[in-house]
Amino acid sequence: MKLVLLGAPGAGKGTQAEVLSEKLGIPVISTGNMLRAAIAEGTEQGKTAEVYIKQGGLVPDDVVVEILKERLSHFDCKNGFILDGFPRSLSQAEVLDKMGVAIDRVISLEVPDEEIAKRLSGRRVCLLCGATYHIEYNPPKQDGLCNNDNQPLIIRDDDKPETFMKRLEVYHELTEPLKEYYLDKGILRIVVGQEEVSDTSREVLKALEG
Ligand code: AMP
Repeated sequence: MKLVLLGAPGAGKGTQAEVLSEKLGIPVISTGNMLRAAIAEGTEQGKTAEVYIKQGGLVPDDVVVEILKERLSHFDCKNGFILDGFPRSLSQAEVLDKMGVAIDRVISLEVPDEEIAKRLSGRRVCLLCGATYHIEYNPPKQDGLCNNDNQPLIIRDDDKPETFMKRLEVYHELTEPLKEYYLDKGILRIVVGQEEVSDTSREVLKALEG
């Protein structure tokens, strides 16, 4: 199963990707997490990416595609994967097609912009494993610490209101048109994000069957 999760920043893609990964036994490929790891490691790709991420814009395709191709070549992707955060534009969707990656399902997680703002202000992430939490809707077992590795959780720089507004704009302008692209291919399913993570997961799983 090769899946794509579409959705605005804060719509819950990362959280749902983790749930699906566990249920289906396939890895999550998050370009955002891989770019943040590259920044933390201080690689050339990371240095380029940082400038764009800080401004809430998209990192150039050549950088993201190189990182993605490398990751997809790993053995654990042979039975499928969940793409979280890629493609983010028509040109990136075309890259996947050119690579011969046949996507089975695209789930668009839909949450109104006003709700997104609330969600992002409570979002916390683990820089080590990429897990995401929400202080109210999806809190970690122990306050401020990741369930997987006990690392302190942080607020992402680009979740600050100024940057987040720009990211939302980029989503509507460049990423949302992908819905039509995948609708035409007959593989798009829309899921309305609920307050409870488990309610959304149930809908996402249903959407994978239908
Ligand atoms: P995310 O964690 O998916 O919200 O991504 C955080 C940031 O990383 C985005 O705001 C972009 O700046 C960058 N990014 C992640 N994925 C992509 C992508 N597929 N193409 C371009 N930039 C990306």
